[in-house]
Amino acid sequence: MNILLLGSGGREHAFAWKISQSNHCSKLYIAPGNAGTASCGQNVDIKATDFEGIKQFVLQNAIELVVVGPEDPLVKGVHDFFLADDLLKKVPVIGPQKLGATLEGSKDFSKQFMKRHNIPTAAYASFTAEQLEEGLKYLETQSLPIVLKADGLAAGKGVLICETLEDAKTELTAMLADAKFGAASSTVVIEQFLKGIELSVFVLTDGKSYKLLPSAKDYKRIGEGDKGLNTGGMGSISPVPFANEEFIKKVEERIVIPTVEGLKKDNIPYKGFIFIGLMNDGGEPYVIEYNVRMGDPETESVLPRIKSDLVELFLGVAHENLAEKSFEVDDRTATTIMLVAGGYPGDYEKGKEITGFDAIEDSLVFHAGTTQKDGKVVTAGGRVIAITTLGKDIPSALAVSNANAQKIKFEDKYYRRDIGFDLQ
Ligand code: AMP
Repeated sequence: MNILLLGSGGREHAFAWKISQSNHCSKLYIAPGNAGTASCGQNVDIKATDFEGIKQFVLQNAIELVVVGPEDPLVKGVHDFFLADDLLKKVPVIGPQKLGATLEGSKDFSKQFMKRHNIPTAAYASFTAEQLEEGLKYLETQSLPIVLKADGLAAGKGVLICETLEDAKTELTAMLADAKFGAASSTVVIEQFLKGIELSVFVLTDGKSYKLLPSAKDYKRIGEGDKGLNTGGMGSISPVPFANEEFIKKVEERIVIPTVEGLKKDNIPYKGFIFIGLMNDGGEPYVIEYNVRMGDPETESVLPRIKSDLVELFLGVAHENLAEKSFEVDDRTATTIMLVAGGYPGDYEKGKEITGFDAIEDSLVFHAGTTQKDGKVVTAGGRVIAITTLGKDIPSALAVSNANAQKIKFEDKYYRRDIGFDLQ
């Protein structure tokens, strides 16, 4: 098959690496890809949200399967675009249609969905700009800390945890009355604070049945000890030791099955990944959020643990016979360390030459923000390279990831040396 993968990050390099190993894959294209995906297939210079450009490419290159990495094209309706076009509608797309993508695109929509289907999550209420006064009054009735969430996509910045009532009122006013996050905060979800430890589980569904993929934990803060600013993710570990069989069973029964069944009951077609952000509060799982695609850098830890042919699973999604596909997971632990550009997540420079790839032993190197320039690989983003190692346990896998993290060199490289610190 000719396969087109949309996206350009570390997640997409991991997808490209896995897809290119499939017997079903004769030619893989990545739009737009990065310097790493170029070693798994052919990069094409089309943005993941350029639907017309994608259409021309799909038709000219006899593409038979499209896999969508990031949320942006999904929320903008790339799957619907294919279904609405006579020439494209036979080409399966892995990733939900716009309606399903609203689970990520609108926090209010996802909270309503969870409430409707009795899926455990924090208690909440939503307010629009016209309801600011009601929202302020509501805050007075709530315990602290309290969580304010911009309804729409806000580049991962739209969630505020307020410790005082005064702070919560100021922030709610800024979001609703002063458009702190633009249109994304024209509705705000006010939510109870959940305590516990976070982790993520991932589901692949054809809309009828599902495969529960390995769990993972990511490390979002820039600084060691989980301090400092939020980032796209500084590392990840899979599986998560505290997500034992008993806990995962609860997640499956209380969350995964009601989610897949809920989508069916609500007539929301869904073919793709569901990323469920969870809080484990004393062994009880609560949903923090849904995302409608895989996570980054969790994908870099999760996919290397999947032994089954990913394209075979995608064909199961496309043909709605996923239940018949075998699914096997590697028992080993995967650890991923992200190398980032100095200054990230604030201002940072690009275009720095990256060297040391030949010295890497016993790890997978996934490119996140890289590009090729004059025959060299150079930095092209804040998160630059993900180093994944499979090992018998967390310490042994981390030791190899850390050793290899030193060998990749570029100016002002930074990485956290404490990924997994809370799990060992
Ligand atoms: P979200 O975009 O909904 O995943 O929120 C971003 C981050 O905010 C999460 O990963 C959590 O660390 C934190 N968070 C969100 N909602 C809650 C909550 N109800 N209680 C505690 N922390 C939360």
